[in-house]
Amino acid sequence: MGGRGLGGAALAVPGPSVGDGTGPSVSPLWIDGEPRPAADGRTFEVENPATGETDFTVARGGARDVDLAIRAARRAARNGWPTMHSRDRGRVLREAAALLAQRADAIAEIETRSVGRPLREMRQQVRRVPEWLEFFASVAEAHEDRVVPAVGPIMNYVRRVPLGVIGQITPWNHPLLITIKKVAPALASGNTVVVKPSELAPVAPLELARALVDAGIPDGAVNVVAGFADAGQALTAHGGIDRIDLTGGTETGRRVAEAAGRRLIPVQAELGGKTPVVVFDDVPVDVAVAGAAFAGFVASGQSCIAGTRIVVHRRSYEPFVAALVERAARIRVGDPLDLATQMGPLVSDGQLRRVLGLVDSAREQGASVLAGGHRLTGEPYDRGHYMGATVITGVTNAMRIMREEVFGPVVTVEPFDDESHAIDLANDSHYGLGAAVWSYDLRRAHAVAHALRAGTVWVNDHHRIDPASPWGGFQDSGVGFENGVAAFDDYTAAQSVLVRLDREPFDWFADDGTELRYS
Ligand code: NDP
Repeated sequence: MGGRGLGGAALAVPGPSVGDGTGPSVSPLWIDGEPRPAADGRTFEVENPATGETDFTVARGGARDVDLAIRAARRAARNGWPTMHSRDRGRVLREAAALLAQRADAIAEIETRSVGRPLREMRQQVRRVPEWLEFFASVAEAHEDRVVPAVGPIMNYVRRVPLGVIGQITPWNHPLLITIKKVAPALASGNTVVVKPSELAPVAPLELARALVDAGIPDGAVNVVAGFADAGQALTAHGGIDRIDLTGGTETGRRVAEAAGRRLIPVQAELGGKTPVVVFDDVPVDVAVAGAAFAGFVASGQSCIAGTRIVVHRRSYEPFVAALVERAARIRVGDPLDLATQMGPLVSDGQLRRVLGLVDSAREQGASVLAGGHRLTGEPYDRGHYMGATVITGVTNAMRIMREEVFGPVVTVEPFDDESHAIDLANDSHYGLGAAVWSYDLRRAHAVAHALRAGTVWVNDHHRIDPASPWGGFQDSGVGFENGVAAFDDYTAAQSVLVRLDREPFDWFADDGTELRYS
């Protein structure tokens, strides 16, 4: 095993492969510290959305593999990883961070070939992934237990103990970034993990397992079982996990939360979004348009925080729309491996059809599509799932395009009259993940930010994320949060230890007629 290219692509990261050596190389599952084929030998193919070709063949994990992984994680949760000194755990995480930093550009190429997001963006994103391991290594190293005030000769301290084995299910759209947001705090706080990545983009999360194993993490502490939704269901239904994390669609979130509820285990779910972008007229139109295009079209809009609902002060509405339409038309759509490309294809034909269907529904409901809105054809578009950056006006909040998460390069623009109208429009959604305010008036920017119901609000910015900054959604965008020191604590349970320091023995049931003493 080992030494062969990952999947069919010639990449700079020589990963292991499994199989009989006659077919294409197969990216293995990582279970109990080693690369393995699926228990039933099945594999699946990952399509490159830019070409329609198979760039990776991956072992397809199922319920048996999930069970093996959970058993390995349980063994590791009993022996070693949680009881290691936090500085030793930190050392492993930092070593893995260094390995990922070395391998970042090759992993970025894996991601581009899997999801079609331009390589120039993927490199930026993957190069930041080591920060999560470094940050949570630091949190672990600096963690202190607490002593609480106690009555009498008692010392009462509170330990934070790891929950045990964490099941983690991740989506395709930011494959490694989202996986690291869950894996880093879970491991740093002494838990062990079983990860089920999306079937559309499993190879980069498998590479994370490899980096952690290469960094010396004990066997079984990290397991990655690539597979389809049945593997995710097997993970959520298994009696051997102590918490379940998901990033995915809101309906998947409800199903996973129901399974967690039945088992009475904690659930953390990062779900869909419908992010508003509120643009005041004190920001120059070209600045606001550049910001809105960044918010809405990065990753072809396939981001949970894509700024899809733009609301603009009526005074600058018309020049804003004209400039955004012109800007959208100039975005270079094409081969995502070409470093000049600014927008790649959508992840799959199904996703493209869904997005185009939502654009059609907006047309049918009376909206105007001023830019994009259709499948791109010709070379190189015919081979992949391409559409242009799309700008829609004339919308009302009752339209499907305004209610549902689109997950494509589609933004709507509508005018507002004053601050409170802007807030009402922005908050008119059952989601609440992200929001953005564009204004140079500090009072107004803070006031509007505070009035928006969203877990993250950017002012004159978008998409910024940091391991130290809590990340979570309000309403249908999820429960719980990632990132920040509190996320580390969230992977632990409080254990109160009460130590009686009084050497005087006491006998509660002594029948000596004296008053009961309990101190
Ligand atoms: P899905 O909900 O389709 O899938 C997410 C993961 O769950 C995948 O690994 C999937 O497996 C698995 N899965 C699907 N059904 C089940 C089930 N019944 N039980 C257990 N696991 C299951 O989401 P997408 O992958 O399409 O990702 C896009 C979604 O993720 C968008 O809604 C987006 O907004 C959201 N998201 C939220 C973020 C946040 O921070 N809030 C960040 C990024 C994305 P498989 O793929 O193999 O079917």
